[in-house]
Amino acid sequence: MDNKKRKISIIGSTGSIGRQALEVIEKLEDKFEIIALAGGHNKELLQKQADKFKPKYTCLGEDGLEKICSDKENDIILVACSGKIGLRPTLTAIKNGIDIALANKETLVMAGDIVMSEAKRHNVNIIPVDSEHCAIHQCIKDITQVNKLIITASGGPFLHKSIEDMKNATVEQALAHPRWNMGKKITVDSATLMNKGLEIIEAHHLFGFDYEKIDVVVHPQSIVHSAIEYVDGSVIAQIGLPSMHIPIQYAITYPERFEGIKSKSFSFADIARLDFEKPDYKKFPTVELAYNMGKTGGTATVCMNAANEEAVFAFLDGKIKLYNIFEITEKMCAEHEVIQNPSIEDIFDVDEQIRVKTREYIAKFWN
Ligand code: MG
Repeated sequence: MDNKKRKISIIGSTGSIGRQALEVIEKLEDKFEIIALAGGHNKELLQKQADKFKPKYTCLGEDGLEKICSDKENDIILVACSGKIGLRPTLTAIKNGIDIALANKETLVMAGDIVMSEAKRHNVNIIPVDSEHCAIHQCIKDITQVNKLIITASGGPFLHKSIEDMKNATVEQALAHPRWNMGKKITVDSATLMNKGLEIIEAHHLFGFDYEKIDVVVHPQSIVHSAIEYVDGSVIAQIGLPSMHIPIQYAITYPERFEGIKSKSFSFADIARLDFEKPDYKKFPTVELAYNMGKTGGTATVCMNAANEEAVFAFLDGKIKLYNIFEITEKMCAEHEVIQNPSIEDIFDVDEQIRVKTREYIAKFWN
């Protein structure tokens, strides 16, 4: 960043990542100028944000996202909404040559091949906000010399609980994440480890690594945010207190760093110990499913994402149990006829079909 203010828009400013991004920007107000803020449905909060940060314009809901992402005045757009609505605007921004700070997982899980090849074609940087990918991004100096990526997982609230406990888990238990404070959908995904499954697919697209070269390790303290192994066996990890402010700030100020919102200095002595263990793929079949769907490619990951999301909503609505999320998602994936090299329209069609099918299946067996 030179002395000029960086012009930024935030898609999803009223969500968890969006709100934290504005806290970062507030600390670095001389570094940023906000072009637009787009909120989901919290009109009141969006108005408050607009009064405080004075963007050129705001929008609520999906309308207006295309306008924001076509506005070439933006240097960077933070895509912090959740769900598939992030995909089209992200592609629009890429086509307009605007860099992306990407917090929305669906963009890469649904259309990683298209998004990354468009980004390359338009010479656009996609800088990950997801803490694991941000960690890997910070570790990589020369990607051609990296042998594998090691993604850490906190393990969620059921890490050391029995399968029985997990089967009978309430919504409150699933939402009680031990380390990170996040939106509801992603918190349930963390409890089932599907979040890690989605992150494996994200990493595959972002860094161009084969699935065989992406490992997952459970690390309950969430201090090591992820690591890479170089060809010579040297491992570089990115370490820090679990706060989303750091990856958000890194992504929107990259390649520069500022003190910003940093609250306290890191101390290894205070941490005292770091634990690591293999993920239990029997208890959490999501990780293996994600590897398999990722390797299958095409619309396989679209199907997995859509089925999982609908199942998570049904769980949050009290219609199904936590463990049913696995069986529902697996069933939809097993029955899906994969389209290879799908167009964006194919992707949205499959997404919609799977959602309808998943809802029908749930209504049939759990009502
Ligand atoms: Mg993450």
